[in-house]
Amino acid sequence: MPPRTSIEEFRELLKSSNRVLALCGAGLSAASGLPTFRGAGGLWRNHEPTSLATPTAFKRDPALVWLFYAWRRHMALKANPNRGHYALAELAKKKDDFLCLTQNVDGLSPRAGHPEAKLKLLHGSILDNKCFNDNCDYIDRNNLSDPVCPALAPAAEDYPPGQTIPLLDPYVPAPSIKVEDLLHCPQCKTGLLRPGVVWFNEPLDKQMLADIDNWILQGPIDIMLVVGTAAVVFPAAGYTQQAIDQGAIVAVVNPDPESGEGLIDEDFFFQGDASELLPKLFEGVIGKMDEHGKIL
Ligand SMILES: [Zn+2]
Repeated sequence: MPPRTSIEEFRELLKSSNRVLALCGAGLSAASGLPTFRGAGGLWRNHEPTSLATPTAFKRDPALVWLFYAWRRHMALKANPNRGHYALAELAKKKDDFLCLTQNVDGLSPRAGHPEAKLKLLHGSILDNKCFNDNCDYIDRNNLSDPVCPALAPAAEDYPPGQTIPLLDPYVPAPSIKVEDLLHCPQCKTGLLRPGVVWFNEPLDKQMLADIDNWILQGPIDIMLVVGTAAVVFPAAGYTQQAIDQGAIVAVVNPDPESGEGLIDEDFFFQGDASELLPKLFEGVIGKMDEHGKIL
């Protein structure tokens, strides 16, 4: 038996639910028009993006890594939260026992007003700057400056549509930026600040993981909502299984038909974009939402 697809049935279930866990991936931000961080050919300039997102790369060439992140920050700050982000933020305000985990680092959920205590940023935030020194815990959260510092202004310039951005053109030399002009830590005075995202070869925040586990184990979970990511891929798969163990019915919202694989007949699968579907699915709890994400 395939999973259920009735919006009415889901609304009834959500209304009567107490504990709801959500897990969001890149699909949630798709309607905000954020480009993937890979350019043409999968490269950023001549670099494999995954080779820039490591502590080793930052140690070797902090200016280059910062240029890459300053550009992604600029894109994230130019984008706006969509109705999917606003719907989740409203649901968080209405449901006392709701927790949202997101793999997105774009800062759009916090900017949509999602209550901080009900949002766990699994991979950190591109809008946070933290100290690169191992023994310093300085972190500057939700820094909205763009450019993040004057030296990185070349990564925050806009060009007319259709024109190649010089920074993204590997044949145009990268702007030369001195390490001393990058952001330094105001606490230890010696460390460079780095983007507050989780890089390859880095563990997720231990305290955050413990908080999530504690929340999950507090009691039965009514709904596990998986938005814009595949429920069968880790870490979504791990959290989905934990929620199922706590009795949850799984609801997947994703344009990709294959993302509903593994669901059983009591689960839900809604094929489509989160920005269109979430306001509809939550309407019985949050009320009707206009096209800009405001509750009517
Ligand atoms: Zn420091």
